[in-house]
Amino acid sequence: MTRISCFGVHSARAANDDPDKMMYTFKRGEAEGTKEMKHTLGGKGAGLQEIAALGLNVPPGFTITTSACERYQSKGESFVNVDLWPDVLRGITFLEKTSNRTLFRSGCTPITRLPLFVSVRSGAAASMPGMMDSVLDIGFNDEACEACITAGIDARFVYDSYRRLLHMFGDVVEGIPSEDFARALDAKKKSIGASTDAELTSDALRELCDDFKRIYEQHKIQFEQNPLEQLRKSIVAVFKSWNNPRAVTYRKINNITTLRGTAVNVQQMAYGNLDDNSGSGVCFTRNPATGQNVIFGEFLLRAQGEDVVSGARTPIDISQLSATLPDASADLKRACAALESSYSDMMDVEFTIESGTLFVLQCRVGKRTGAAAVRIATEMAAEGCVTRERAITMVPTRSLEQCLHPVFTLDANSDEYVTRVVTRGLSASPGAAVGAIVFNAKEAEKLSSEGKPCILVREETSAEDVGGMWSANGILTSRGGMTSHAAVVARGWGKPCVVGASGIHIKNGKELRFDGSDKVYRQGHVISINGATGEVLDAKLDTRASTIDTFLPLKTLMAWCDDARRLDVRANADTIEDALEARAEGAHGVGLVRSEHMFFGTPERVRAMRAMVVAQHDESALSAALETLKKFQYDDFYGVLKAFAGYPVTIRLLDPPLHEFMPSAEKLREGAADEIARDVGKSSRDVMDIAKDLQCANPMLALRGCRLGIVRPAISTMQVRAVVEAAMTLRNEGVAAMPEIMIPLVSTTREFTHQRDLVLDVIRLVAEERQEPPLRIAIGAMIETPRAAFIAGELVREGACFFSFGTNDLTQTTFAMSRDDSDAFVAPYKTMGILSEDPFVELDDVGVGELMRITISRSRAQEIGGKSIEFGVCGEHAADPASLRIIDRMDVGYISVSSHRVLVARLAAAQASIANGSKPHARASKHRHVASHAA
Ligand code: ADP
Ligand code: MG
Ligand code: MG
Repeated sequence: MTRISCFGVHSARAANDDPDKMMYTFKRGEAEGTKEMKHTLGGKGAGLQEIAALGLNVPPGFTITTSACERYQSKGESFVNVDLWPDVLRGITFLEKTSNRTLFRSGCTPITRLPLFVSVRSGAAASMPGMMDSVLDIGFNDEACEACITAGIDARFVYDSYRRLLHMFGDVVEGIPSEDFARALDAKKKSIGASTDAELTSDALRELCDDFKRIYEQHKIQFEQNPLEQLRKSIVAVFKSWNNPRAVTYRKINNITTLRGTAVNVQQMAYGNLDDNSGSGVCFTRNPATGQNVIFGEFLLRAQGEDVVSGARTPIDISQLSATLPDASADLKRACAALESSYSDMMDVEFTIESGTLFVLQCRVGKRTGAAAVRIATEMAAEGCVTRERAITMVPTRSLEQCLHPVFTLDANSDEYVTRVVTRGLSASPGAAVGAIVFNAKEAEKLSSEGKPCILVREETSAEDVGGMWSANGILTSRGGMTSHAAVVARGWGKPCVVGASGIHIKNGKELRFDGSDKVYRQGHVISINGATGEVLDAKLDTRASTIDTFLPLKTLMAWCDDARRLDVRANADTIEDALEARAEGAHGVGLVRSEHMFFGTPERVRAMRAMVVAQHDESALSAALETLKKFQYDDFYGVLKAFAGYPVTIRLLDPPLHEFMPSAEKLREGAADEIARDVGKSSRDVMDIAKDLQCANPMLALRGCRLGIVRPAISTMQVRAVVEAAMTLRNEGVAAMPEIMIPLVSTTREFTHQRDLVLDVIRLVAEERQEPPLRIAIGAMIETPRAAFIAGELVREGACFFSFGTNDLTQTTFAMSRDDSDAFVAPYKTMGILSEDPFVELDDVGVGELMRITISRSRAQEIGGKSIEFGVCGEHAADPASLRIIDRMDVGYISVSSHRVLVARLAAAQASIANGSKPHARASKHRHVASHAA
């Protein structure tokens, strides 16, 4: 089995010379192209192969494969000494041949030119920045130093390199604390009055080497003088670093579970510290913060790469390079262009210049901000570097989220930021929020009414907290998952939210503590939360709004997405503001108006709703309460329908169980009951009794959805009336209102026909009252139970014109899993491999998906006489990329997402269509079949 793979200028020839075929090289595009290559050679090794295959100048070297590391883990050091060693020696022979330099061997003095020195660099298939070790400048020893100097090589360079090897080898291989060396270096600088490493003279550096060797002696270690032994020990140390605690933790946190080891790259050293025409640097092929097409980076003269990142000296802006080393600068520009076009992406490049000659040492796809991602993708497509399809797939959906939400002004990589992070949760809803801690919804409302920003911190939230959640700048919970109440509500509003931060301990609803600290935080203490990353910071950070409205590249990208996607995008909009925002973001209709959500808005609306709930069987009180409610509903429907003139607006009749509109039993006892009683002219006792009657053992499966509309028809009648009247008024105003009525939680045909008849009656009645022609309104059902899927054909026969898959509830009812309680078992299930994904996050294709397909095929079978049934998805899944790929493959016409996620959905839907190779078709057919009986 091949254990090493060579790269470098003449690697192809060397490989052909290799009789044992122990080495192989790759053609251009091959190294990066295949995942397997990366798996075998690691990211760095595959990148080095690609750089070499592009014909760019790379110091030659060879990569020891990840499977060798795996063998080392099981067999131990003897694997390196016995099995691997002949391959390494062969690799060294290749290196000596290609570099035209030889590894220093004791007794081979005198020498006439620079010997071969090498670096040993770690690099796994997944990026694990800074987690594993590398050793540079291998091959130096006392004798080599003297021989080099005798041969006329600059003494300063020689001792500078030697002291680097002594330091790194001591640290990585021998386990001598790095600080010991750092301290000696500082002492030396102080003693000669040097402020930076660069000011150390050759004498000082030679003395420093002696100081370093004394540190070895203090640790009772003999510095390894034999270059081949240095190499062998370094390879072992890098193998070992795969399992150092840092790397293990990093893999755990980042869920890197499939990799078995790191590759090791042995590479000729290019010397950035050789002379005044040498230096090292790092650059991005474009600006990673803004996306501007200008090489962005830093370099240092007379330095090795580590000096640039370590902050030992202040680097110089890359724009200065052309003035100092014009040839190398021009080569760098060419290299950047070649790498970009080969990878079709913006690249992060490490380079060294040795005596004016550029060497590329590493390249990988560059990390970038959301705004930069959008700009880079669109500009690269416009330049012809990538296709539009590729540009669309280059932008991760979270980039848009980053573009669209407030962000901290402080850099998330800065020490100041990192040290202030006190705990982490799930990044439920992106955006930066800053405010005073409050522990309950009431306080949140109070503070915000005083104009004070706050963060609502709770174990979890429920419907009764909604007012406070709305008032707060951000929401933080210690329990719950990505689809918990807090997460769903916050995302719906685009409000920053972190959930499931289990490191938070709230005591008595009055104070909290973070894991790992005794500090107690009380109400009023200002914290910051980062909804995009899940971080919680003990700091009052500044935020700034994103300026995406004026961001032309985003508009361009969105237009391309619209051409590429098959699924149409509508919005879930519960208020006029939501509707206006969704329209501005390009939604083609409203896929879900949750008619009850309109009553969470203001205290007077909540009061009106409660009056309706407690009116119960008191006819006159009920009709008075409904009359008040209708006014609100009429105004809202009028506004939403108008905002979406010419587009369908699907209004769902009342869905949640009524107790959700009442305060908790505790709050009722604490005075809320008296308040409601005063409002409705009943006794507090009565109010408490009614509230108690409304309690159910299993609310999700109780009196809700269409059951409520059937048992309490007055509510549905009022809602439909509000819709019909608003639409007729708009019709008279010449506005093309296109309301549709959706019946929730249907599971029998009779449920559907009952509500259908109710709707048709209202339409007819209102028309008669107003002496106007009746409205034609499409009636459809929400598919949220398995039984609804099975009877879909019958529902079509009974006049259903459309179906909307409520995939949240459909998942709950298919799995019999409560979504609000699922974190107790979904997380352990995932760890144990019983579930591969949380079905509330990623649509379950096998079960839930199958029910959707059944619904569609049984409905289509009933399409006779020009009928055409429309299908949509309005659950949370509609905004999840993996779920979208599944939905895109179904015969579904549109998805409906929270109004703040319309842009994200337009992008994600396009990515799904590109991934599936599905053809976009003419969308936004505004005219839909309406059952004939509706006329
Ligand atoms: P990391 O994975 O931590 O970035 P690297 O293996 O890239 O570690 O090594 C760190 C730095 O060491 C590189 O950025 C480069 O500057 C320097 N380096 C590594 N190998 C060589 C080499 N063969 N020639 C010159 N410099 C090197
Ligand atoms: Mg590197
Ligand atoms: Mg539902």
